[in-house]
Amino acid sequence: MEKNLDFRSDTVTWPTLEMRKAAAKAVIGDDVYGEDPTVNELERLAAEMLGKEAGLFVTSGTQGNAVSILAHTQRGDEIILEARSHIYLNEVGGLAVLGNLMVRPIVGESGWMKPEDIKRAVRADNIHYPRTHLLCVENTHNAVGGIPLTPKQLKADWEVAKEHDLCVHLDGARIFNASIALKIDVKKLTQYSDTVMICLSKGLSAPIGSVVVGKSEFIKKARKYRKMLGGGMRQAGIIAAPGIIALTKMVDRLAEDHETARLLAEGLNKINGINVLNPVRTNMVYIDFAGINWTSSDWIEACRKLGWKTRASGTITRLCTHYGINIEDIKVFIEGLNRLVYSERL
Ligand SMILES: *Cc1c(COP(=O)(O)O)cnc(C)c1O
Repeated sequence: MEKNLDFRSDTVTWPTLEMRKAAAKAVIGDDVYGEDPTVNELERLAAEMLGKEAGLFVTSGTQGNAVSILAHTQRGDEIILEARSHIYLNEVGGLAVLGNLMVRPIVGESGWMKPEDIKRAVRADNIHYPRTHLLCVENTHNAVGGIPLTPKQLKADWEVAKEHDLCVHLDGARIFNASIALKIDVKKLTQYSDTVMICLSKGLSAPIGSVVVGKSEFIKKARKYRKMLGGGMRQAGIIAAPGIIALTKMVDRLAEDHETARLLAEGLNKINGINVLNPVRTNMVYIDFAGINWTSSDWIEACRKLGWKTRASGTITRLCTHYGINIEDIKVFIEGLNRLVYSERL
């Protein structure tokens, strides 16, 4: 099969052959009537793995976060979230448009919002203030470099949230990257949230979909919002079947992506003029290549010559490792990049 040499994201992963076969063989029904057994099984399995009562299969992580936030809040509520979180920066302002919600961003420490900062951000009961009602946490935190937040950190945030009657939603697009990196059961991380959104279509390599989990009552509400947003799907077992394989077969494999990212970071750091910006704990490497005097187009062109898709913003880029990239690919890339950087300097 053609190589999937693409550093842009772990969303670019292709489904495994087993996933394609499972899609072809899936037992199906109309999921809007709750009659698709494969979707029901995926939702049950996700809820069980994450330690929650019920699950809801959604089209994307963005839709999963949107229905979760809508189901938790009322118009005019204020949400506390991290200043570089995906919900805040990369979900098209959905919480303002769809939920009429206020946002209170907190600058975290490597993605972790300190409990004292959360406490300070909660609004008092005052006629002038909106109601603070929800805390959103992201794990792994993408923009700070795929950093896994620990149970201890999550517990501290959870406790302060509960002291103030806040609901807690976990954007766990990459929660399994966190549990694998920390070598703990994922439930140790999800126990400190009321609801969780996980992505099946990133490192877990399913072609489509995310799942939201939480209490049955909450999922019932979220299901209605999913319908409102056009996410009521029919014979969705076809796309849920690969999701079941993602959860049962692809979780432990994420350790490989962390190893390839570590090797990639090691190789890049050895190139004079390239600096790795983040502690590489999972599958992301952020670098600044200002020191080699390349523009973003030079970088993209060099990677293209080596067979890779990539992107850059100024001299900073994120390289993401995923299913389809192996240790040999990384070695060849680093050698090639060294060659190009060196020849440019002659
Ligand atoms: C990718 C991602 C999402 C959204 O997922 P989509 O399926 O792309 O909509 C949400 N949160 C985080 C942290 C992500 O990385």
